[in-house]
Amino acid sequence: MKQKDNIQVPLLDIPASYKEILEDVEKSISGVIRSGQFILGPIVEKLEKQIATYCGTKYAVGVSSGTDALLVSLMAAGVGEGDEVITTPFTFFATAGSIARLGARPVFVDIEPETFNIDQRYIENNVTEKTRAIIPVHLYGQSANMDPVVKVARKNNLIIVEDAAQAIGSEYKGRKTGSMGDYGCFSFFPTKNLGGFGDGGMVTTASEELYEKVKILRVHGSNPKYYHKITGGNFRLDALQASIVLAKLKYLERWTELRRKNAKTYDRLFNEKEMTGLLTLPSEVFPRHVYNQYVVRVKEKRDELRAFLEENNIATEIYYPLPLHLQDCFASLGHKKGDFPESEKAADETIALPIFPELSNIQLEYVVETIARYLKK
Ligand SMILES: *Cc1c(COP(=O)(O)O)cnc(C)c1O
Repeated sequence: MKQKDNIQVPLLDIPASYKEILEDVEKSISGVIRSGQFILGPIVEKLEKQIATYCGTKYAVGVSSGTDALLVSLMAAGVGEGDEVITTPFTFFATAGSIARLGARPVFVDIEPETFNIDQRYIENNVTEKTRAIIPVHLYGQSANMDPVVKVARKNNLIIVEDAAQAIGSEYKGRKTGSMGDYGCFSFFPTKNLGGFGDGGMVTTASEELYEKVKILRVHGSNPKYYHKITGGNFRLDALQASIVLAKLKYLERWTELRRKNAKTYDRLFNEKEMTGLLTLPSEVFPRHVYNQYVVRVKEKRDELRAFLEENNIATEIYYPLPLHLQDCFASLGHKKGDFPESEKAADETIALPIFPELSNIQLEYVVETIARYLKK
């Protein structure tokens, strides 16, 4: 045990991943600097083409963040004052925040306990005359159950905006996330599987019309330049971020497979230690899960376990501690505790363990041993 005293397990080790890509990234950054073209331009277009291909769709538009990808998609869909958009309360704030910023109402429905994604049983019941769109979130890197979402959307003439911010490269029945709805929204925030060195995002779509619309909204709605038929915003992606993401895209498949391998190693080690009665492991219901997060559930003392792990130099996180229906800013929606029990339970019981590609077996074993030490005592 002694030699393990100084093992550190961070949640993400960006410098470790940087070693491998240093030459590629520095070459592409200096290329941008020498070109003098910093906003949009050919590098952004190159990234857009490659992301569209990677996601198995036709078009992609580089934008300023994952949040802006959601916002501009909803704007392009014409969502506004008085409209309703169905999504879950167990997601990052931006999913519902972008709905509310447009004056529309987020209509929450609960999640499935097994996948943490939208529970299709509740979607249809919540469709009203005001419903304009559904935002399924592919949380932690696993696709939501899309067939029922597509079915309800077709039947009721609703737009689908996939929140794939955590899920680039994940699949559902052989299709990539971001290619099944009207829009797919991706984030290049540094902690995502394809992270830049700052903010960035992408909207994917198979529709030429929606593609053109998002491109116009991205530049304040101007088309041609300085003439505005619609009001957009500054949702532009900068060329430095695009060049970094472009250089990293080549490695994404390998990094994804390493994340998947780490998840399998965790699964095996927790099983070997006979701990599956003490915690619930994540399940891959729709391969391919890309494990932006590896999230386990513990029935009780989750926060104490977290503190114990921190004392032992293991970083963890809770995604997310307070479901969105209970956030102060959404008080006017009139929700109360108990409205979405599975989301509330997930917020109380889950803990995300380090899963980044460069984790060593020693680190993985140390995490499992340390959790065992706590839960078995
Ligand atoms: C990260 C994230 C976003 C927002 O992306 P940013 O690039 O940080 O704006 C939206 N939805 C989900 C589910 C996310 O995880």
